[in-house]
Amino acid sequence: QQDSSISQTALATIFLFIGMFMLIRGIYFLVSPTTMATILDDNSWWNILTPIFAATLPVIGTTAYLLMCSHRMRTRWEIAASTDYLTGLPNRRSVVLAGNLTFHSAQRNKMALSVAVIDVDHFKNINDRFGHDAGDLALKHIVAVLETIGRKMDLLGRFGGEEFVVLLEQTNHEQALVIAQRMRLAVQHSVFDLTGQAITMTVSIGIATIQEADQSFDNLLQRADKALYMAKGLGRNRVEFADKLMTVST
Ligand code: GH3
Ligand code: MG
Ligand code: MG
Repeated sequence: QQDSSISQTALATIFLFIGMFMLIRGIYFLVSPTTMATILDDNSWWNILTPIFAATLPVIGTTAYLLMCSHRMRTRWEIAASTDYLTGLPNRRSVVLAGNLTFHSAQRNKMALSVAVIDVDHFKNINDRFGHDAGDLALKHIVAVLETIGRKMDLLGRFGGEEFVVLLEQTNHEQALVIAQRMRLAVQHSVFDLTGQAITMTVSIGIATIQEADQSFDNLLQRADKALYMAKGLGRNRVEFADKLMTVST
């Protein structure tokens, strides 16, 4: 995106210079003491170039302008289509796209990869008690907390509703557990301030780590989802690990 705006600036500068050249030529024609005939008789390079410029510039200029517009529209559309409107996080589509790429590269390079699925506990209560707008703010609060815990390399996305996914590259199950526990505790200990009212929330987290038998990123997600379901069943505000089905928190 930055590259394209640099090339757009360069293009605009070139057009500006050519435009200035033509303007000065035009003024010269008008104020020149020599007659028009002498100027046109003169076969100098600018007399040949000026009509060529005059004929082609509008076409080139219009085409370039239209290309710029469609490029910008496309960039804007792509950002809108891959970002969640409320939180600004990558949406489900981007997480799955990134997850597929990461999965295949992890498999090729025999690297660890884990995924955490995070779901807010009893979030419906927040909406019911304080209203949907407060619920939206509560979700933003949780995202802010999760972002302070995630490492730079971790991709946090909103998977839908009050459910989030973290892609943990080069992260084995022990490391994934540590991060997930940190996230869970950070949410539990944070306070969402709703115009003076202190609201606390908790999350349940399911994690899964890549295995030899995995065929796709979806396999990993499904296991993490299963672990999340277990965490909910075992009382919420806990982290469960899918592959060994071990209980890791109380
Ligand atoms: P559990 O502990 O089992 O996850 O309970 P829960 O109440 O969180 O689960 P449930 O899936 O029943 O409810 C999720 C609620 O989240 C329902 C829905 O209205 C709310 N929700 C989903 N997306 C949004 C949103 O963008 N804004 C707000 N305010 N609420 C949302
Ligand atoms: Mg929930
Ligand atoms: Mg949910």
